[in-house]
Amino acid sequence: MSLEWLGEFVHDVPDFPTPGVLFKDISPLLADPDALRFAVEAMAEPYVGGDVDHVAGIDARGFILGAAVAYRLGCGFVPIRKFGKLPRATVSRSYDLEYANNTIEMHADAFAPGDRVVLVDDVLATGGTAAASLELVADTGADVAGAAFLIELGFLDGRKRLGTHVPHVLLSYD
Ligand code: AMP
Repeated sequence: MSLEWLGEFVHDVPDFPTPGVLFKDISPLLADPDALRFAVEAMAEPYVGGDVDHVAGIDARGFILGAAVAYRLGCGFVPIRKFGKLPRATVSRSYDLEYANNTIEMHADAFAPGDRVVLVDDVLATGGTAAASLELVADTGADVAGAAFLIELGFLDGRKRLGTHVPHVLLSYD
């Protein structure tokens, strides 16, 4: 097993969800027991023993990977959701997409000040979603202990938007 081997479980789907987008479909990776375990272990690896209190996973594939990473680290999981899905008081952030605007939310009491939080998502593309998520985490007074992504679309330079946080990435595409 290797990262090259893992990459074979990510399938490219052209023109989804809109023309011109090359969608990285991770369903074959999630469906394979060896690939799923390898990916979760490798995403969690830099943070093992790092006193992490919570993984924050981004809606929706970040929930799948993030909950598994949290289990591996022995910490809790907090969902960062699309607007309107959380039942209690929230903090929110809006950010621009290419042709639209998006808002994400988290429960306002999700973290205590000083909690160490690792952000998890499947794909780092333009970085807008991850940057807004990091701002939400910081808003609560928690500390960002890391940001882990299965895939980075390097040509979109999303990591630039993460400021001082250097992302941990398994598969990078240029
Ligand atoms: P961005 O805010 O541009 O970094 O986009 C990141 C979010 O959009 C992640 O939650 C991804 O799940 C999703 N995403 C963006 N581009 C792709 C892509 N090419 N294939 C799959 N998911 C993507």
